[in-house]
Amino acid sequence: SSPLQSTPVVLVTGGTGLVGYALRHVIETELVGSRYGRREGEQWVFVSSKEADLRDPEQTRRLFEKYKPTHVIHLAALVGGLYKNMKYKLSFLRDNTLINDNVLHFAHATGVSKVISCLSTCVFPDKVSYPLDETKIHLGLPHESNFGYAHAKRMVDVANHAYKDQFGSNFTAAIPTNIFGPNDNFDLEDSHVIPALIHKCFLAKRNNTPFAVSGSGKPLRQFIYSYDLAKLLIWQLREYDDVEPVILSVGEDEELSIKQVADAVVNAIGFEGEYTFDTSRADGQFRKPASNKKLLSQLHDDFAFTPFDSALHDTVRWFVDNYDHART
Ligand code: NDP
Repeated sequence: SSPLQSTPVVLVTGGTGLVGYALRHVIETELVGSRYGRREGEQWVFVSSKEADLRDPEQTRRLFEKYKPTHVIHLAALVGGLYKNMKYKLSFLRDNTLINDNVLHFAHATGVSKVISCLSTCVFPDKVSYPLDETKIHLGLPHESNFGYAHAKRMVDVANHAYKDQFGSNFTAAIPTNIFGPNDNFDLEDSHVIPALIHKCFLAKRNNTPFAVSGSGKPLRQFIYSYDLAKLLIWQLREYDDVEPVILSVGEDEELSIKQVADAVVNAIGFEGEYTFDTSRADGQFRKPASNKKLLSQLHDDFAFTPFDSALHDTVRWFVDNYDHART
């Protein structure tokens, strides 16, 4: 490569979101040169939609021209929990399709050597054998509650394969389960289950009102702490070179019910009032356990996932300390 290209530049799209914030935290706090740390001479750039609306090809082109990334961790997406996905199916389909197409196209056109994009275990087929694994993404229709998001995200895997077959590109994807952590979107209605429960329970405590959990509390989910996910994305960037995606998750034996999550939130907030389940609200899929076997076999050593209760406590502490400027 030319001398101008010798400084690695890692561009993180969606750099201001939940996962982008965690990546920045890990890159800034791990030792330079360590497994999850920054490498000597390497530059990391975290961008938000304010710098470039990635739905727009011209703005995307200018972003790539400005930073000349050698590597991209592509996190930017229109993201939301169950209720937001149910309301805005076309926006989820179209925005994410445009964002992903622009990012991969300009990464290819400007000679980026590696791209890690982000899928989600919620894009898998609704009717499929469990546990989910990396071979089952396209084996049936997604759940109707999020089919816009799911189809757009699945196309990233299709595109990665097409770029590889036609151009030999090193583009791949991570497939996280439900993520939580500091700097999440804590909107009461449009966010994911953990941030929504934290915010609701916080208000119930502050206002002395009942804490109503949406749904039956029975569905089961796997949750990954954003700081753990950030380390695994850095591992994938450094050490994993294959077009086939990898599920980044805790083990399938670590599913928690929404009730267990709500109990942990009540405990972390210190809420002592009345606590109910609103069964008139949708539950989404009952469960969708995902296997992390491939991840564990590729990592070559143990990865210490942060225990759920401790990660949840840290997230609640972050929310309480940052309530005035958190995304609510
Ligand atoms: P957030 O909603 O916290 O952040 C989204 C990020 O994308 C923000 O930085 C936002 O910028 C940026 N963005 C959104 N729209 C655009 C746009 N049109 N142009 C440029 N940037 C844009 O998302 P998460 O951190 O939670 O998600 C990161 C990735 O992980 C996503 O790809 C998501 O699909 C995936 N994922 C998330 C899960 C979760 O539980 N949260 C689960 C599984 C996968 P700005 O700050 O300017 O709005």
